[in-house]
Amino acid sequence: MNKPEIKKILAKLVAINTSNPPGNETTAASFLSEFLKNKTQKIKLIGNKKRKNIIAFFGNLESDNILLFNGHLDTVPFNKTEWQTNPLKLTEKNGSYYGRGVADMKGGVAASIFAILEAEKLGYLKNKQVIFAGSADEETGASSDFGSKMIIDYLVKNKIRVKGALIPEPSGNKKLLTLNLGHRGLIWLKVKSFGKADHAGLLRKEDNSILKMQKFIQGLYSLFPKNPKKVKGIPQSSIRITFINSGNDQHYNLMPQMCEANFDIRISPNENNEKTINRIMKIANKLNIEMQVIKNTPSSKISKQEKIVKVLENVLKSRKQKYKFGFASPTCDAHWYINAGIPTINGLGPVGENVHAPDERVLAESIYDRVDLFVDLIKNF
Ligand SMILES: [Zn+2]
Repeated sequence: MNKPEIKKILAKLVAINTSNPPGNETTAASFLSEFLKNKTQKIKLIGNKKRKNIIAFFGNLESDNILLFNGHLDTVPFNKTEWQTNPLKLTEKNGSYYGRGVADMKGGVAASIFAILEAEKLGYLKNKQVIFAGSADEETGASSDFGSKMIIDYLVKNKIRVKGALIPEPSGNKKLLTLNLGHRGLIWLKVKSFGKADHAGLLRKEDNSILKMQKFIQGLYSLFPKNPKKVKGIPQSSIRITFINSGNDQHYNLMPQMCEANFDIRISPNENNEKTINRIMKIANKLNIEMQVIKNTPSSKISKQEKIVKVLENVLKSRKQKYKFGFASPTCDAHWYINAGIPTINGLGPVGENVHAPDERVLAESIYDRVDLFVDLIKNF
């Protein structure tokens, strides 16, 4: 394994600012395309001008035993003044690399790519195909039309039937790794209730938008468990109201004509987004509430019997690496693959800290360890 080269490519990826918004992932996709030009069978850049995804094909393209690695190329934004180091410069300190995206998830991207190249050198790709997919626009909720959706559309259109996928998002723990079998869905709702703007001091019948919103909130909350928790390791659905406003804070004697509220809803991997939205709609219609779905990222779940799970379990056992099963807490690109029929594991990325925060860092050794681990995965898939 050529550690200096891996570090160099990771440093270049970190130096390319793909903070989302606006993302500008094309710069990173083009850089990888140039780096992989003579090392791959085929490369596709797909997407719009500034938001390209890269799909690179390795190994035997005739083989129907196809394994895919997916990594998003965008990062969350940063505020330079809050950082001890330059977020766009990979900086080594006490065995860790600092920089925006080193953990989430440019480290996982670099580890995947170098694992594929290493596996090819070792002759493990003779009878299989491995795809690296670098996606755009994940950090805004993994529900974008410009990211992994485009990769899936391309695979479906070209009848490329991927048998298993890994999305090496950062792991938070060196000793115990988590194999995420999916994640909860995410729904963001913006709703408006309506009443009559009327003087509060008069003895007229009250038609108050706030009271209608109160009824709606109660109705909505009654659809979800009171104290959501994990049941047999699977997180339940949950709802939180995150904003409410009647725009009326100066007028004590006026009932507001309109009240608006925002909700964050998480859907258990065992449940379905659309069914939940239909139930909520029924309550909204009764109260004449206007409802807008701002974000809708489906839930996803795979079985432990899938090949990608079995192979990974065997690889981890043979490396004496402890692991557990779980579900990713935020949403991620996994639902695109899982809901397209590709069994996908999320997790197993390099060990990171301060993900989405200042001074994001990754344990340097864990990157090289993951290259090894992913080579084993490719070999045994
Ligand atoms: Zn991520």
